[in-house]
Amino acid sequence: MMYNRVALIGLGLIASSMFWAMKRANVAGEVTGFARTQETRDTARRIGLCDRVCDSVAEAVEGADLIVLCVPVGAMGAIAAEMAPHLAPGATVTDVGSVKRAVIDAVGPHLPEGVHFVPGHPMAGTEHSGPESGFAELFDNRWCLLVPTEGSDPAAVARLRSYWEALGSNVEEMEPERHDLVCAVTSHAPHLIAYTMVGVADDLGRVTDSEVVKFSAAGFRDFTRIAASDPTMWRDVFLTNKDATLEILGRFTEELFALQRAIRTGDGDHLHDYFTRTRAIRRGIIEAGQDTDAPDFGRGGVR
Ligand code: NAP
Repeated sequence: MMYNRVALIGLGLIASSMFWAMKRANVAGEVTGFARTQETRDTARRIGLCDRVCDSVAEAVEGADLIVLCVPVGAMGAIAAEMAPHLAPGATVTDVGSVKRAVIDAVGPHLPEGVHFVPGHPMAGTEHSGPESGFAELFDNRWCLLVPTEGSDPAAVARLRSYWEALGSNVEEMEPERHDLVCAVTSHAPHLIAYTMVGVADDLGRVTDSEVVKFSAAGFRDFTRIAASDPTMWRDVFLTNKDATLEILGRFTEELFALQRAIRTGDGDHLHDYFTRTRAIRRGIIEAGQDTDAPDFGRGGVR
């Protein structure tokens, strides 16, 4: 056992996937869980999510040697304040939030002396949420980024690394600012663009009745999958990763204007060169084993 007792705070997609992956890898003695609403706690009990579902944060973290915050980024500070007096000395607190600087600033100050804080971010997800959306394979061959803070204990970091590797992830360490910029490029800005594109199509759909849905080609359908992601989680991501997201969106807008101009002026060479460059990036992602070239991206069997 890597940890005797793991407490999952928040029981949605990521926590439930961690639970099933922990059971598959047999890395934790007991897994306790807490969710804010009675409804989610009842669902968790019904489907056997967690060895013990608790009715308070305090009860869930009692005696735990690993505590994982699996709530939206904007809720982490308040949870940290609530659980702090109940943490066992020597315990490790980590999180799975999609933004790191804001989480470090919100959670770190609440943690008592003798508790290790090792922020983390599994770069894996789906557009589904809630306790019933998780599955053990979610983290297989996906990156998990650990973002140790200045005082993070190297032994606690090493143990958490082994834990994520046992759950199927490849692990790398990163500085918080670097993490937030990388995620703004690879995840946050693309989500905002998908939300925008679906919003535009929806406005058009009102004009053309259901044609947007009826004739939606694969490109648009891929946008709608991303734009179906949890509204609370994504609201918090943009509010807490403001600077990096705005930086990337600024660059995006410049490129969009350049392409717009190429279309207006009939500059086919510019368009062709650009699309050739982006196609190579897609091939690189497939070669790196981070996706497949199947039309459904190999996601057919994944919930
Ligand atoms: P989720 O399925 O929507 O579950 C969120 C959980 O947090 C639920 O148990 C919910 O409780 C609880 N919660 C929501 N608001 C809360 C609040 N104000 N106070 C206390 N608890 C609250 O979310 P998820 O996809 O697992 O995401 C969890 C974290 O993982 C987020 O920080 C997100 O940034 C990160 N993450 C997500 C993905 C992804 O693709 N989904 C990928 C990597 C990392 P109730 O059900 O009781 O309301």
